[in-house]
Amino acid sequence: MSGIDKVGRRALLGGLAATAGMATLTGRALAQDPGAVTREPALVPVAVSTPTEPTPPDPGRALARLLAGNQRFVSGHLRHPHQTAADLHEVAAGQHPFAIVLGCADSRVPPEVLFDQGLGDLFDNRVAGNIADDLLLGSIEFAVEEFGPRLILVLGHERCGAVSATFAALDSGQPAPGHIGTIVTALRPVLEPLRTAPDRVEAGVRASVRATVTALTADSEILAERVHSGELGIVGARYDLDTGRVTILP
Ligand SMILES: [Zn+2]
Repeated sequence: MSGIDKVGRRALLGGLAATAGMATLTGRALAQDPGAVTREPALVPVAVSTPTEPTPPDPGRALARLLAGNQRFVSGHLRHPHQTAADLHEVAAGQHPFAIVLGCADSRVPPEVLFDQGLGDLFDNRVAGNIADDLLLGSIEFAVEEFGPRLILVLGHERCGAVSATFAALDSGQPAPGHIGTIVTALRPVLEPLRTAPDRVEAGVRASVRATVTALTADSEILAERVHSGELGIVGARYDLDTGRVTILP
C-alpha cells in the first residue's frame, strides 16, 4: 500500500465515521416524515422543486447523501429532486455538484437515476470500464478545482461488458477491433492476473474499481492534496444490476 493510499484510506475512514452518523439521522428524518413512509412507489415520476442543498461539509456526509438516494431508488420512494423548470433555471446560473461519479457508460447504470439526484447534483464522468485515463483525470481535476465537491465515487457494476470483453480478448490473443483495444490495454494489467480466477468477471469488476481509486491519488497531485487535507474523499463502489443497490467496496 502506498503512502498516498494510506492517506486516502485514513481520510475515507474519517468520512465513513461521519457517514454512519448521518445514516442514522437520515433514518430518523424519514421516520418523522409520514409521506416518506407511506408513499407508494412512484409509477409516474413526479419531479419536486426543492432548493439546491448546500455542498455537504465533509466526504462522509456527501457519501451519505448519495447512499440515501440509492436507498430511495431501491425502495421505490423516489423524490426526483432538482428536476423542475425552476431547478433548471437555478442551475443555469451556476453549478455546485457535491459529488463526482466516475462510472461505466453502461446504459443500465445512470448515476442520477440510481442515486435519485437531479440537475446540478453530480458531475458525471462515464466511460466503458470506468477507467481513469489522462482525459478523464483532467475532467475530474477540472471539476474538483472548479466546484469543490466533497466526494469522488468510482462506480463499477455487476457483469460489466468492458471487463468481459477484455477477458475475451486476452483469451483469444487477438487484438480488439478499432479503438476498443484501448479499453483492453487499460484494463489488462488489472485483469490479466485474474484470468483463471473463479467468477472472474465479478473479481475483475471489483479489482478494476480498486485500481482506479488508487490511481486517482497516485496520478494526480491535485486530488492527492485534497484527500490529504480531508476536504475530498475517494471511494469505490459496486452497482448490483439485479437489485439496484450500490455497495461500498472495502
Ligand atoms: Zn460496464
